[in-house]
Amino acid sequence: MSYDLIIKNANIVDGSGEPAFKGEIAVEDGKIKKIAHKLLKKDATRIIDAEGQLVTPGFIDPHVHEELVVLNNGLFEDFLSQGVTTIINGNCGHSVTPYDARNIYQYMYQNGLISSSAKEVYAKKHPAWNSLAEYFEIVKTKGTNINFGILLGHGTLRWSVMGGSKARKPTNEESEEIKSLIAEGMKQGALGISTGLSYIPSRYAKTEELVEAAAVVAKYDGVYSSHIRYYLGELEAVQEAIEIGKKAGVRVQVSHLTPTAPEAFAEILKASKAGVEIAVDTIPKSSGHCTRKDRMLQFIMALSSELFEKGIEGVKEALQDEEGREKILENTTIFGENPGSIILINTNDPKLELKTVAELAKKVGKEPADFLLDLLADDEQDFTCWLGGLNREDFPGKEYPDQVAFNPLVMVGSDRIFGEPDDPYSWYELFRRGAFPLFFKMMSDKGVKLEEIVRRVSSLPATHFKLSDRGLLKEGMAADINIIDYNNYHYPNNNQIDYSKPLTNAEGVRYVIVNGKLTLENGVVKTAYAGKCLGLNGKYN
Ligand SMILES: [Zn+2]
Repeated sequence: MSYDLIIKNANIVDGSGEPAFKGEIAVEDGKIKKIAHKLLKKDATRIIDAEGQLVTPGFIDPHVHEELVVLNNGLFEDFLSQGVTTIINGNCGHSVTPYDARNIYQYMYQNGLISSSAKEVYAKKHPAWNSLAEYFEIVKTKGTNINFGILLGHGTLRWSVMGGSKARKPTNEESEEIKSLIAEGMKQGALGISTGLSYIPSRYAKTEELVEAAAVVAKYDGVYSSHIRYYLGELEAVQEAIEIGKKAGVRVQVSHLTPTAPEAFAEILKASKAGVEIAVDTIPKSSGHCTRKDRMLQFIMALSSELFEKGIEGVKEALQDEEGREKILENTTIFGENPGSIILINTNDPKLELKTVAELAKKVGKEPADFLLDLLADDEQDFTCWLGGLNREDFPGKEYPDQVAFNPLVMVGSDRIFGEPDDPYSWYELFRRGAFPLFFKMMSDKGVKLEEIVRRVSSLPATHFKLSDRGLLKEGMAADINIIDYNNYHYPNNNQIDYSKPLTNAEGVRYVIVNGKLTLENGVVKTAYAGKCLGLNGKYN
């Protein structure tokens, strides 16, 4: 009998952190059957010569929001071209449960995650579900090229059970309902729970409420993944996550921590040494958000319940009068910390292109915020607001201590966020489709060894999220394998990035094998759809 696949002349970095070695890998029935310096049996349906290439386990992205995208398009070219074979969805408190699909679309819409038209399109195009188990069935029927894990979203649960974003404690009855829904979701194959403590409604939950929720997750061996209360300051917010981990006895994942707070990373390492099971992901490089005008109007609508009631037309009216404008400017977080620093791109007026709001406002003697509101009120103008710009500090940042890069608990999380079906220009981030090659580059520039970088994106997340048959090139493990032309593993840098091309993919990954099936070949994605819905401890949903 022959193998399904043999990879020969491989330079193997197996994900354990141990030194690279030359060898051959045989794949059969979706699993790694044999790894040896020289295989005895040589016949296979397919043989790939990996001479000069790096062979690694498929990478794992613990922080994404692709739970609706998969319904539309299961190809995941953006992930495969980076070598990512597993993604964990349902982060930041947002998830596909509880109750029915309509409830979820409504939640996503009200939180500005999808537009009203997308809400209708999703509901019309895709079968409805009434439970997490039914959602998984839909994903499996549609097919996915990469493995898919799901977290339950505390925000969605709280919002659904309490009938909206209530700034109060749940009643006993509500609290019991939330906990029983968590138990139900865990039984149906969730990997844990996520919180979005900077957002409504999770931010209204006190630590004790979160400990209670996390304790249910711990009972099922799940993880507590948290978008922490960044508004408290990273250190204090991380300390709360650690406290929850201790009190609930749950594994903790701190989401998208930025290296602006090296002391918060140090605190995580300290807690780990003291016995708390904790890890952290970071977005290695971000351009901030690119938000098109229509989407920006939607975010303004979500600023207050009053505007929400009135809809987009109400926002347009508010932009026309003084009182309305004042109300909008009361909360400028959607414009970033400084509206003047917004860069205008994808404009229909070349005079505006790539200019900051501050410089344009100065020319006409206006305040930047006023000038921006004028533009938003002007039906003739079309543009995208680029918040943050290229100068946002990157991981691990020149002025930050190397301890952040060398912290063994730091993994990458791209925070890819679903946008509109078939409309990538509505809202995008320039660098997130390249999070993995950017992480590799930044870490190796800091002197972190290749074997250690690979461990951080494979066995570290696999172990922490209890994906027990992933993250290592080892006999018996699932055959998620990358063959990478490492010298050319690359994503555009600040000078090369093209803001008008939100669909740019990473380069350098030659082959990706997902559960034994060739899913990317010579850099081109195939419709293998071999991805599985992963549960805890090697179970599948
Ligand atoms: Zn988040």
